[in-house]
Amino acid sequence: MAARAGFDTHEVTNQSPPYEDVDLFSSDRPLQDAVAANGVAAPPAMLAAFGRHWGSAAMFEQARLANDNPPRLKTHDAKGFRRDVVEFHPAYHGFMRESIGAGLHAMTWTAQGARTGAPAEVARAARYYVVAQVENGHMCPVTMTRACVGALAAEPALLAKLMPKIASRRYDPRLQPWWEKEGMTLGMGMTEKQGGTDVRTNTTRAVEAGDGYAITGHKWFMSAPMCDAFLVLAQAPAGPTCFLMPRFRPDGAINALQFQRLKDKLGNRSNASAEVEFADAFAWRIGEEGRGVRTIIEMVQLTRLDCAIASCGLMRMALAQALHHARYRTVFQRKLADQPLMRRVLADMALELEGAVALVMRLARAFDRAASDPAEAAYARLLTPAVKYWICKSAPALIYEAMECLGGNGYVEEGILARLYREAPVNAIWEGSGNVMCLDVLRALARESEAARAVLAQLAQQAADLPGSAEAATVVAQAFLAGDAEANARAAVERLALLAAAAALKDSAPAAVCDAFGRGRLSSSRGAMYGTAALASAETTLIERALPS
Ligand SMILES: Cc1cc2nc3c(=O)[nH]c(=O)nc-3n(C[C@H](O)[C@H](O)[C@H](O)COP(=O)(O)OP(=O)(O)OC[C@H]3O[C@@H](n4cnc5c(N)ncnc54)[C@H](O)[C@@H]3O)c2cc1C
Repeated sequence: MAARAGFDTHEVTNQSPPYEDVDLFSSDRPLQDAVAANGVAAPPAMLAAFGRHWGSAAMFEQARLANDNPPRLKTHDAKGFRRDVVEFHPAYHGFMRESIGAGLHAMTWTAQGARTGAPAEVARAARYYVVAQVENGHMCPVTMTRACVGALAAEPALLAKLMPKIASRRYDPRLQPWWEKEGMTLGMGMTEKQGGTDVRTNTTRAVEAGDGYAITGHKWFMSAPMCDAFLVLAQAPAGPTCFLMPRFRPDGAINALQFQRLKDKLGNRSNASAEVEFADAFAWRIGEEGRGVRTIIEMVQLTRLDCAIASCGLMRMALAQALHHARYRTVFQRKLADQPLMRRVLADMALELEGAVALVMRLARAFDRAASDPAEAAYARLLTPAVKYWICKSAPALIYEAMECLGGNGYVEEGILARLYREAPVNAIWEGSGNVMCLDVLRALARESEAARAVLAQLAQQAADLPGSAEAATVVAQAFLAGDAEANARAAVERLALLAAAAALKDSAPAAVCDAFGRGRLSSSRGAMYGTAALASAETTLIERALPS
C-alpha cells in the first residue's frame, strides 16, 4: 500500500492481504473428497456457492460484529416489570437467518420429524463445517433445534404439532407464542449447579398439573435463552424425566422462566448462556416418567456430532489463515511457506485436519445409515464419543499453532485467530467433557460388546496396510480388555479415534496422505508438538490439498 505524503515510514509491506472473499468449499480438497466419499455424489456447484457466500468479506465482518457486541440481558423494564429478554446484535440475527434459511437446523428431518435419510447428514455436515469457520455462537441454537427433534420423537403427537414451525426455514426472533410465529427454535436446560455430567442429581422438580407438568427449580447453563421451547430434565415422582418447556403457556400467557444473568464466557461471545429459574413453569412430558436420561440419548448423540464438526471448522479456518499468511510473509529473504521447518509445521497441521475431516464425514455417514444398517448404528454408537473426544480436544492445540504461524499478528484481537482460539475449548466441555466421552466409549463396549468389537475389527482391517495400524489396534484392544480400563481410557480412546480416522482416510484421501497419517499419527514416533511427524514425501501434497497455491 502506498504511503501518504509525510508518513513515509508507515508504508505497510510484507504483510498478507486479508483472507476473505474465498470459496470455503472449493479451496478445501480434503473436505471435497470426504463429502464425495461419504455419499454426496455430485454436489459441488451448490456447495461451492455456499462456500463462496460464507467466505465473503461481508460475512467475516458480520462475524466480527456479532462477537464484538455480545448479547445483553434485560431482566426488567423501566417500571420494574419482568421482561426476561436477551437482546442480540443485528449481525447475530443475520447469521440465524442465514443458517436457518439454509436448513441447518432441520434438513435431516422430514416434515413429520422422521430422518430424511442418506446423504442428508453428510450434506448438512459439509455446510455446518463451512459455517463454523466463520461464526460459531449462533450455531448453538441451530444445533440444539435439530438435535431436540431426536428426543421429541418420543411424543409423536406433540412433534407433529411443532414440526411445521421447527422445519420452517424462516427465522422469527420475536418473543411470541410459538404457534403465532413463522418458525421456532429449541434449546435445552440439563446442567444444574450441583451437577452437569451427573444429571441424575437434578434438584429441579416436576409435578403433574392439568395438561402438563409444573416445574420448579433452576438451570445453571441454558444457552440461547430466546429459543421458543427448551428440553429440560427434572425429577418427577418416578425419577429424572424429560420435558419440553415453552416460553409461552398453551393459554398464551408468558411461562414462568426468569433469567438470572448471562455467563461471562471465555469465547462463544455472540451467543447468550443464561442462568435461569423456573417457578411452576408449564412443560409437556417427553417420554416416560423416570426415563429422562434414556429419552435425551438421541439428542445428545446429534449434538456431539455437531461439536466435532464445529471443531473441525474452527481448525480449518485457523489452518487456512496460517497457510495464507505463510505464502505472503518473507523472513530471511524467503517466504515462510518455503522455509523447511515452517513447511513441516504446516503440513503436520494439514495432516491432523485431513484425518479429522475424513473421520467426521464418515461419522455423519453412519448417522445417515444407522436406521437401516446395524453395522453403521454400531459405528455411530462406539465412535461418536471417541470422535468428539479426539477432534474437540485437538482444536485448541492446532489453533494455537496456527496462531503462532502468524507471529504477533496472530495474537491480536483484530485478527480472527484470537476468536477461534477462545472459541475452541467449549466444544470439548459441553455435552460430555473429555473423560465423560471416554467413559461412554467403555459403556458402548460393555453393553454392546459384540457389535463394538466388530467395529474395531473392521477399522483394523481397513487400515491394515498403513504403518502403525497393527500397533494401534493392539493398544486399543488390550487397553479396553485390561482390568484398569477406566484409568487407561484416554490412551485407548485417542488411539481408537486415530485408527478410525486412518480407516476413513482410506476411503477418501490419496495413498500418500493415508501413509503419512499412519506414520505421523498411528505409529508412536511423533513428538508432542506440531512439526515433529515424519512427513517429508507428503508435505507438498498435504499443503496443496489444504489450500491450493
Ligand atoms: C458455553 C457453554 C454453554 C453451555 N450451554 C448449556 C446448555 O445450553 N444447556 C445445558 O444443559 N448445559 C450447558 N452447558 C453446560 C455443559 O453441558 C456442562 O458444563 C458440561 O456438561 C459439564 O458439566 P459440569 O460443568 O457440571 O462439570 P462436571 O460434570 O462437574 O465435570 C467436571 C469434570 O469432571 C469430569 N468428570 C465427570 N465425571 C467423571 C468421572 N466419572 N470420571 C472422571 N472424570 C469425570 C468431566 O469430564 C469434566 O472434565 C454449557 C456450558 C458451556 C461452557
